Amino acid sequence: MTLTDRFGRAITYLRISVTDRCNLRCVYCLPQHGAQWLARENQLSVEEIARVVETAARVGVKRIRLTGGEPLVRPDMAEIVARIASIAGIEEVSLTTNAMLLERLARPLADAGLKRVNVSLDTLDADKFKRITRGGSLDRLWRGLAAAEAAGLSPLKLNTVVVNGLNADELPALARLTIENPWHVRFIELMPVGNAQDWGEGFPVRSERYFSLQEMRAQLSTFNLEPATQPKGNGPARTFRIPGALGTIGFISPLGEHFCQNCNRLRLTADGYLRPCLLLDGEINVREALRSNEPILPLLQRAVDSKPEGHELLMQHYPESRRMAQIGG
Ligand code: SAM
Repeated sequence: MTLTDRFGRAITYLRISVTDRCNLRCVYCLPQHGAQWLARENQLSVEEIARVVETAARVGVKRIRLTGGEPLVRPDMAEIVARIASIAGIEEVSLTTNAMLLERLARPLADAGLKRVNVSLDTLDADKFKRITRGGSLDRLWRGLAAAEAAGLSPLKLNTVVVNGLNADELPALARLTIENPWHVRFIELMPVGNAQDWGEGFPVRSERYFSLQEMRAQLSTFNLEPATQPKGNGPARTFRIPGALGTIGFISPLGEHFCQNCNRLRLTADGYLRPCLLLDGEINVREALRSNEPILPLLQRAVDSKPEGHELLMQHYPESRRMAQIGG
């Protein structure tokens, strides 16, 4: 049996937010102060996460991505990876991280069965990195990347959320990283999810932050990008290569050129709700079923059946019930 939605899309990929907590406060993702965290008892346990994955694997889900919040702040992360990686039918477990704790954890996570990491990197300037992340260290990120490569967590993908007036001028420098490194740099359009507020002094105001896919392509026009095949992972990015480069450049543009027609995923929030679409509110409570020992499969099926054909950002319908850190990006 496989999970196929009303529009013929087979669902083979589950993104799991293992915690809503984060050790950084990226300006476009979390407020500087006063973020409300889930009560611990509402967060799914390792066993509960594993039960959802076991059920999903029985109906064709093959790939799992662990995200957050910051997944590496969960003390039982290696246990979560090991448990999921051992489930029959799961071919790949990967992780999205800010890399602040990666130097120490890359090896134990690889040993537990983790295959790849995506790391968020919005700037190559250490001071700007600290400002955007409100406290992060670019140096720690580089050490985390080196540890990930040494542990075989490759191909490495780097995610850059592109914001006009903040880091859009760095696209060429970030793209150049791919010339000598077999890395996959992906430029992501800023999504209007829980970040409408003022980001503080020195940051662009809301109406000036968006930097479109077309503007990104124009910024990189001197590189004569050529189409390239997707690196392993098969995500939503449209992929290109600087001629002769070892790595690739991808564009993820939910607004400029959306990719809903290829959507193969469901999301599970840290408090146990299945979310059929990142960008539309509407969720199915599986935590209740897990805790009262009811079957999960009908809920998975319901989540798949309620997947919309596409998001509605262009109609100005923005998700309001959760922030990105709670959904997992
Ligand atoms: N803490 C981890 C990290 O930093 O990668 C994982 C969680 S984070 C929510 C996942 C991804 O979502 C990151 O690459 C982040 O840059 C991206 N993200 C967060 N808010 C976003 C937004 N409003 N628009 C586009 N991407 C966003």
